[in-house]
Amino acid sequence: YGDFNQKIDYVFKIVLIGDSAVGKSQLLSRFARNDFSLDSRATIGVEFQTKTLVIDHKTVKAQIWDTAGQERYRAVTTAYYRGAVGAMLVYDITKRQTFDHVAKWLEELRAHADNNIVIMLVGNKSDLGTLRDVPTEDAKDFAQRENLFFMETSALEATNVEIAFQTVLTEIYRIVS
Ligand code: GDP
Ligand code: MG
Repeated sequence: YGDFNQKIDYVFKIVLIGDSAVGKSQLLSRFARNDFSLDSRATIGVEFQTKTLVIDHKTVKAQIWDTAGQERYRAVTTAYYRGAVGAMLVYDITKRQTFDHVAKWLEELRAHADNNIVIMLVGNKSDLGTLRDVPTEDAKDFAQRENLFFMETSALEATNVEIAFQTVLTEIYRIVS
């Protein structure tokens, strides 16, 4: 309620996509509420959280949408992508399969979302380095080829979460302002 009555200069819709259990919901709670829970159940119902921040002296409200656990059924709908100006495409660095599916998610995103959408490839669970199944270089190369931003994060340890969202929001701001 802190931003009640606050003048908002921009509202940016960001979508979280990627396979189930890669940590999308935890990344969102870490960013929006600085919270993390180890036994997060699958998200129920389409929902979003907002976070207001200041970029270049402007008040920007990020409206971040989380999949409703629909990723399991490949049922993320067109409505989910509508109006999105940014996307966090998340995989789990300890599960190769979730990285192998990134190309599919990207295809889906490019089919449904705005052409100018700003995309961050996010390798989450960097705290589990000993279980790593996706070399950083593989993801970096993929991101470079596909023109995506790239970062490895840990929602658990709050590593790079803020900066990942901020990078996307700042780039969107740069494009629209
Ligand atoms: P989602 O299905 O993509 O929304 O994934 P969740 O956010 O529900 O997370 C799935 C599981 O991974 C949960 O047990 C989380 O506690 C765990 N998890 C999420 N992020 C991290 C992380 O950065 N590190 C570790 N070790 N576990 C995480
Ligand atoms: Mg979830």
